[in-house]
Amino acid sequence: MKIIMLGAPGAGKGTQAKMIAEKYSVPHISTGDIFRANIKNGTELGMEAKKYMDQGLLVPDELTVKILLDRVANEDCKNGYVLDGFPRTIPQAQVLDKALTELGDKIDYAINVEVPDENIVKRMGGRRACLSCGATYHIEHVPPKAEGICDTCGKELVLRDDDKSETVMNRLDVYHKQTQPLIDFYSAKGVLQTVDGTVDMKDVFAAIIAILG
Ligand SMILES: [Zn+2]
Repeated sequence: MKIIMLGAPGAGKGTQAKMIAEKYSVPHISTGDIFRANIKNGTELGMEAKKYMDQGLLVPDELTVKILLDRVANEDCKNGYVLDGFPRTIPQAQVLDKALTELGDKIDYAINVEVPDENIVKRMGGRRACLSCGATYHIEHVPPKAEGICDTCGKELVLRDDDKSETVMNRLDVYHKQTQPLIDFYSAKGVLQTVDGTVDMKDVFAAIIAILG
């Protein structure tokens, strides 16, 4: 089973991707991880990607797809894989689709973890972080023992800029412009499956299992 995950930042798709990978014994593949691995191992593709990254440029979609196909050609992907964080845009999806078609292959499921923007803003706004030791909390779901104080090191907890509603709303705007069209793309291919991401993550996962079988 070849799966791609769709969903807004903060919708919990990364968590679901990991749980799918574990249950079905397929690798969880994030493009960030495979870039790092290729660069670390000094592969030809890695060095090519590094040239762009060193200049602060985006790695071209064709190269990213090449690196991705190289990864999924590994033995551990013979039963499938879960792609997390790619494709993000229609051009990326088209390049991936074309490359897979040439290999006689295709994506079987595009799982869209759907969460309304206002829920995401609320979720992120409840996050608290300790800038001293890196511990993270959530005022509702993972509260510290003493309000506003890190359990581990006793320092004061803060709401990171990344989690502030304005930043989150900006990211959601970008997501809706770039990624939302993917929902139509995979829907047209007949592989889109949407699950309600507002419920408990165990229930989101149960809904995904019901789809994957
Ligand atoms: Zn701390």
